[in-house]
Amino acid sequence: MITRFAPSPTGPLHLGHAYSALLAWERARAAGGRFLLRIEDIDQGRARAHWETQIYEDLRWLGLDWEVPVLRQSENLPAYRAALAALWARGLLYPCRCRRRDILEAASAPQEGGAPLTGPDGILYPGTCRDRPGARQGPLPQDVALRLDMARALEALGETPLAFTETGAGPDGAQGEIALSPRQLIETVGDVVLSRREMGTSYHLAVVIDDAAQGVSEVTRGRDLFEATAIHVVLQRLLDLPSPRYHHHRLIRDEDGRRLAKRDDARAIAAYRAEGVSPAELRDMVGL
Ligand code: GLU
Repeated sequence: MITRFAPSPTGPLHLGHAYSALLAWERARAAGGRFLLRIEDIDQGRARAHWETQIYEDLRWLGLDWEVPVLRQSENLPAYRAALAALWARGLLYPCRCRRRDILEAASAPQEGGAPLTGPDGILYPGTCRDRPGARQGPLPQDVALRLDMARALEALGETPLAFTETGAGPDGAQGEIALSPRQLIETVGDVVLSRREMGTSYHLAVVIDDAAQGVSEVTRGRDLFEATAIHVVLQRLLDLPSPRYHHHRLIRDEDGRRLAKRDDARAIAAYRAEGVSPAELRDMVGL
């Protein structure tokens, strides 16, 4: 059994991260497995070295250990590029030059009625750039966002079954074998971005490639990423990668029931450390 904790060094780790990391580490230990740490720093505009240093300090303080060297996604860009090239060669990607505002406007056009649909990747892409003549020809373009043509991708997969195993619980308690419907993928997930202009990859692509490259057999992560798993399974099938099983866990919430975010500095592990809270007390606070 190999699992991982994959934080982004774009802010302090908070109680929710502490729970996720501790849970993954304990599940690995209970199974006699391995626990890996991965630094998800593809957003170089927001990633900072001092946040990465603090991640190591916080996790060590919690009593965790992990294998070295730690994989940093910013050092793995050629692997993401190779996967993009393979999908491009099959005509499954197209360049997209829409700005956020264009997407919002097109998605909320009056004839569509009401608020734009949102999926696990934000607003459902209205398809503006999908059928531009000649856009899928030539070599893999650089410096432009690349979207997956979801309908074509599913067509390419044909009868391949789309499903994953959930050992935790989805938002409605879903567990066991979770089957994915191609129609739902088209209607509620759509043409997700696989490469952002300034990153040369995206969260979805990088996470799928790295989980496979690191031999991760169980992805332990928060329930907020349950919907994104559908995207990950499609990418695994397209790239011929094995699917790990998924253990989506409950989220740690504040007193008002909102889930914690990076901006909740008051709930940063470092803030509790500075106040003299012990690792055992912190475990207690997250219900472990
Ligand atoms: N890097 C993501 C985050 O900080 C986690 C991704 C994952 O566990 O799949 O939320």
